[in-house]
Amino acid sequence: MKYQNLGGIMTDYISFSICNICNLCCPYCYKEKDEHIFKIENLIYLKKLKDLGINVINISGGEPYCNPNIHNILEELSESFYLYLSSNGLLIDKKELDYINQNQKIRLLSLPLYGSRKYNDSITAQGHFDKIISIIKAYKSGAYGFSLKINTVVTKDNLLDLERFYVEYLLGKDVIWRLFELQFKGDFKLRSSSVDYANMHIDGKIIEGFAQKMNSLYRDEKIFAGTKTDLKNVLMLEPNLDVCTSHPDYVKVTNLLSEDFEVEFKKLQEDNHLICGKY
Ligand code: SF4
Repeated sequence: MKYQNLGGIMTDYISFSICNICNLCCPYCYKEKDEHIFKIENLIYLKKLKDLGINVINISGGEPYCNPNIHNILEELSESFYLYLSSNGLLIDKKELDYINQNQKIRLLSLPLYGSRKYNDSITAQGHFDKIISIIKAYKSGAYGFSLKINTVVTKDNLLDLERFYVEYLLGKDVIWRLFELQFKGDFKLRSSSVDYANMHIDGKIIEGFAQKMNSLYRDEKIFAGTKTDLKNVLMLEPNLDVCTSHPDYVKVTNLLSEDFEVEFKKLQEDNHLICGKY
């Protein structure tokens, strides 16, 4: 059965990878990367999703800025959808923030940051921490209409330092902070022979408890915990227009270009497999 792993999938949201390549090589990567880049001439097929009830598309990758057509894709899709943009931030500067801001359909910019400079850059790349902090500062000092979200994968290596990190760099900056459970999939899984998952992994319930504690200590902040259970409820669209679940192993549902896509998607909705989503 193709979609038995879907659980409760969100009905109006889809995550769309516009390329599977990336300019980083994070050890925690949830993605199995290859050379696929979304072809701009296939944009027409994405309009089908609007007719099927999708209202929000999260533009992701790999690194979406590694697709040279990213601006065309954002502009075309914003005619029909609200957009979220998930990037590693390396190619975003003040000019790009202003570009994002002038498109009122882009509602959210989502960036990773894993903790202190030394720790973060050991996962991403030297200079990545300072880049994200500079984006946060620019965001804070500008009048931007979109929301800024910082994503942090929580492991035993950074948990004890995260409150200090939050207070120093994120508290009061009007950013959403989303904590994620390390997932055993994608490139992380492929590298598993050299990574001690059991010794790094923290259960989602502990992460939720940490987020609750932070929210009670620092009121009016926006701190959320995303667990494996949340993440399985995301439909992902690959650059070649394969539609997959995000968990546990990118189970392919169908291809957007296939003739039976609409029938299969509607069946999911009718069977009540589709529920409203969250970012
Ligand atoms: S986690 Fe994101 S930024 Fe890091 S290598 Fe994977 S796709 Fe690139």
